[in-house]
Amino acid sequence: MDFQLDDAARERLEALRAFGRETIRPLGIERDRAGSPTPPDHPFFREVLARGLTRPPAGSDEGGTSLGAAVWRVVAGQELAYWDRGVSSSLPGPGLGGGPVMSMGTPEQQKRLLGPFRDMTEPRWAAFAMTEPGAGSDVARIQSRAVRDGDDWVLNGAKLYSANADRADWIVVFATVDPALGRAGHRAFIVERGMPGLSEPKPEKKMGIKAYASASFTMNDLRVPADNLLGSEARYESRGGGQRPGAGFKGAMQTFNATRPAIAANAVGMARACLDEATAFARDRDRLTGRHRDRLERMRRRIRAAWLMCLKAAWLADRGEPNMVEASMSKATAAEVAMEAASLGMEVLGAVGAQGEHLIEKLYRDVKAMDIVEGTGQIQRIVMARHLVNYPRDA
Ligand SMILES: Cc1cc2nc3c(=O)[nH]c(=O)nc-3n(C[C@H](O)[C@H](O)[C@H](O)COP(=O)(O)OP(=O)(O)OC[C@H]3O[C@@H](n4cnc5c(N)ncnc54)[C@H](O)[C@@H]3O)c2cc1C
Repeated sequence: MDFQLDDAARERLEALRAFGRETIRPLGIERDRAGSPTPPDHPFFREVLARGLTRPPAGSDEGGTSLGAAVWRVVAGQELAYWDRGVSSSLPGPGLGGGPVMSMGTPEQQKRLLGPFRDMTEPRWAAFAMTEPGAGSDVARIQSRAVRDGDDWVLNGAKLYSANADRADWIVVFATVDPALGRAGHRAFIVERGMPGLSEPKPEKKMGIKAYASASFTMNDLRVPADNLLGSEARYESRGGGQRPGAGFKGAMQTFNATRPAIAANAVGMARACLDEATAFARDRDRLTGRHRDRLERMRRRIRAAWLMCLKAAWLADRGEPNMVEASMSKATAAEVAMEAASLGMEVLGAVGAQGEHLIEKLYRDVKAMDIVEGTGQIQRIVMARHLVNYPRDA
């Protein structure tokens, strides 16, 4: 495995770093104090597009440099979250909605849905909505219903915490044709902004990462054309007719295998920010006692180990090799490391951290989400343990 950055990637990383320092960190602090997400018409988003910061490095064509696309995503994701994870999650793009469209969508759907994101003049967002008031970790319990009616599907239900749903052109919504079927009943639909029956997505209150919206919405007799069933009905049928078990569920899980290393990389970036804040404070105040030295050094080691796990998981993804265990391992480890680093930072700063004005206090609130999103730490451990004892994947 070779993770050396080539010149194009190094240059792009330097640009991200400079933009992070000058713009992303201050905006994240501003939004944290305001307690609300960056409005979609904020000039920041146009500036991001104009600078081409959301594109992979020149010549890479999503991964054609010496670094693959997945490895580049963790490298960039780590850097952006170092400066502010909330702002980095608010950046225009298909976001979590892009994964299922790529893994489940027909070529026509991929072109129709992802094509507009190539336009770098207008900020656009998409979203992913699985979580419901009664179904978080156990996604098999989703209750949003999908009923076929002629050429349409009719959706009813409620979704929670969908990132950027308040500004999304479309949202990948998971619903079930029959809750008794569990995962086998899942279907993924494209719900477009303005469709009758879709309530106005409402940003939730969050303890941290406030610069982006996690929005809730309801669907009341929302009619979706059959073309908006992701992957078309054939995807969900078995060869012999009837249901193909868990095609919708598997599509969501494939998405997680691709995105968990990126979430892990965000956590590593945030842990690095905690370590830098704590180290600078200890150095400036002459507080580098033996106890702190030991803690800071432990964090540096742990951050390095978590980072290597992210790179390995992404490297496997670039090679098209199975990475489920590595993806879960990186996510579980990096989130733990980030929480520990934030806690350590608070300890090193003592009362100064607790006053609520220092970045470390914001990081302390921000990092918890990294343990929750895309499967909590417990869920990652279940995924890995099932693999360890060879438990059937669909059971
Ligand atoms: C900032 C943020 C952004 C999010 N973005 C999105 C998004 O874009 N789209 C989306 O669909 N969802 C999103 N979510 C929702 C997120 O995926 C869920 O919060 C997560 O899956 C956990 O579900 P829950 O909150 O209902 O907790 P629960 O599932 O109720 O879990 C509560 C606790 O029980 C533990 N637990 C649950 N089951 C088990 C088990 N079998 N064994 C041991 N422990 C268990 C969990 O680890 C957790 O500690 C987001 C959440 C947050 C906080």
